[in-house]
Amino acid sequence: MSASILQPGQIEAPAGDIPFLRLPARGSHFRDRAARFRQLADGHKMGDFLEFMARLSEAQHAALAHFPQVALPDADQLALARAHGMPPLAARTWRRDPAWRTALQAIAASMSEGASRPVGDAIARLSVLDEAGVEKLADAVLDNRFHDIDLAAAPFVAAALQVYWTHMSTSLGAGAFGRSEPPSLCPVCASPPVASIVRIGGAEQGLRYLHCALCGSEWHMVRAKCSNCESTKGIAYYAIEGGKGAVKAESCETCGSYLKILYLDKDPLLDPTADDLASLALDILMDETGVQRSGPNLFLLSV
Ligand SMILES: [Zn+2]
Ligand SMILES: [Zn+2]
Repeated sequence: MSASILQPGQIEAPAGDIPFLRLPARGSHFRDRAARFRQLADGHKMGDFLEFMARLSEAQHAALAHFPQVALPDADQLALARAHGMPPLAARTWRRDPAWRTALQAIAASMSEGASRPVGDAIARLSVLDEAGVEKLADAVLDNRFHDIDLAAAPFVAAALQVYWTHMSTSLGAGAFGRSEPPSLCPVCASPPVASIVRIGGAEQGLRYLHCALCGSEWHMVRAKCSNCESTKGIAYYAIEGGKGAVKAESCETCGSYLKILYLDKDPLLDPTADDLASLALDILMDETGVQRSGPNLFLLSV
């Protein structure tokens, strides 16, 4: 038997044949995530938290279904963004429509039914904030600044922001977006990925996509390459012993970072946001190796 070393790109079709961008399926994105959280919660050490996340994802599904029309970039603005390789809905600079706060209220109202004491208290604190206070919290979540904010209130804000950005991206459609720089950030909203996922089926068989932490869009990046700095040297994979290998950490010697990579051929029901939270043990393991996680999970610091 002989072995050969594959170079990045060699194991995949030429770039032109690859679906570069996959937007979330509007009707099922949050509903499927809720089902996955529920499945992962069963018998899990963090079962209560994962069950809470299942309910939060269901509330997101309902909020997205009722989201009103909002201002979007026009055709000229989209063309200009594509020409310059810029994400047109950049999370840190986009002027948010107040409709996202209506979604936040709906999500909070839904979560307050039968809520535990700490969850109820967090929702109560959120409900007395003025508009500026809520927007400040949103800025902090989008900036991944979690040190000086109300951590218990942050998941509701993150959930509403995800719904708002998913609403905008799916309203515009995949054709609105082009490739952008740097390739480590989402071409829709310029957020970092929560994880990457190796897909199965059709033209995407075996292709690796980075999954946006905010808007849920996925963009293609060849495998065996650091998703943070694009180095192809010193890439190593770590997994929890005894698992089925569906979730690994891909670490890079060059920039000293890691991001999880999920393999749908090992488990077709994987969801990047849900499976990332359910595999916190792997983050703890990676912390011991001294590498830093490169992309956020907007719900991670609330655990
Ligand atoms: Zn995005
Ligand atoms: Zn790197």
